[in-house]
Amino acid sequence: MILPWHKKPFAKLKQMIDQNHLPHALLITGSEKIGKFELMQQLVKTLLCEDQTCGQCALCRSIAKDNPKQVLDDSVLIRRSHYPNMVYCRTEINDKGVESKNIRIDQIRAFCDALNKTADNLQIGVLFYADQMNILAANSLLKTLEEPRENTLIILLAHNLKNLPATIVSRCQSVHIPPAYDQETKAWLTQHIGKAQNTDLDVVQLLEHTHGVPFKALSELSGDGFIHYQHWQNQLLDIAVHPLMINQLEDFEGNEVEVLNCLQNLIIEGIRLKTLNHEGGLIELNKVVKEVNSDFLFRLLDDVYHAISLSKTTVNIKLLLDNVLIVWSHITHLKRYPQITST
Ligand SMILES: [Zn+2]
Repeated sequence: MILPWHKKPFAKLKQMIDQNHLPHALLITGSEKIGKFELMQQLVKTLLCEDQTCGQCALCRSIAKDNPKQVLDDSVLIRRSHYPNMVYCRTEINDKGVESKNIRIDQIRAFCDALNKTADNLQIGVLFYADQMNILAANSLLKTLEEPRENTLIILLAHNLKNLPATIVSRCQSVHIPPAYDQETKAWLTQHIGKAQNTDLDVVQLLEHTHGVPFKALSELSGDGFIHYQHWQNQLLDIAVHPLMINQLEDFEGNEVEVLNCLQNLIIEGIRLKTLNHEGGLIELNKVVKEVNSDFLFRLLDDVYHAISLSKTTVNIKLLLDNVLIVWSHITHLKRYPQITST
């Protein structure tokens, strides 16, 4: 089954296969949790399965058995697929026994060696995430990409194209999975939330909150994150419309940064609506946008950014949040903008 938000990128891949234009190196990009790995699996099955992704044959089943996302206790350079002509390369446990942040050059060498054996069948190498290669590793991979071999397909998965050397990117055909806000994706999400829990969540808001990444939306739900977020958002909107309610605010202790992040999203959305002269889905926010001076929104946004960055220092974040909230609660009828943080 192809996920609804994978349909366009998959169609692009399918076209490459059908026209016999599949490159030697393919780069699949998209935000964290957008499903790059799942799209890669779909591609591999489409390439190898006689029935194109039947899911039942020995080949489909052997690929389904692979679990390279799992962190192993031992250090290995590369992992072999249950399908004999496929290998995976990812970060592994380092000398100190913790998962390394980088993919190293010895791993890339082992990866390229494994792909370099002569075979009649297509050799597939999957590297994730290419953003994690250190510079030596990237240079080593580049040599292989520069001298592509017949019957070899290297698939790189990466969160962000900007983190990769341009030399690598230029050797690959790229396929991007964009964030999704369409009806079909919303329906998919509604269906999967239904399975997870029985709450009447606003799917549109949830998808906006997770920047159009459905798997992220699901994982937020499993951790109560979004329920808290909605709760904070309601309180923040309340005080902007009824400033006196600031006295009834709950104690945000321990969640100051999350509340600041929530406020930051509200202000950004407010600025967007103000600029476009639109109404959004949050009634209270529309009221604020109608009355507010945009200049004050921009200044408060700066202060919120600044407060978030200060939260990593020894600053009294509770006090700082209180000051930010006082300004936010008066944002629609400020005469002049006060100084919140000293720089
Ligand atoms: Zn099959």
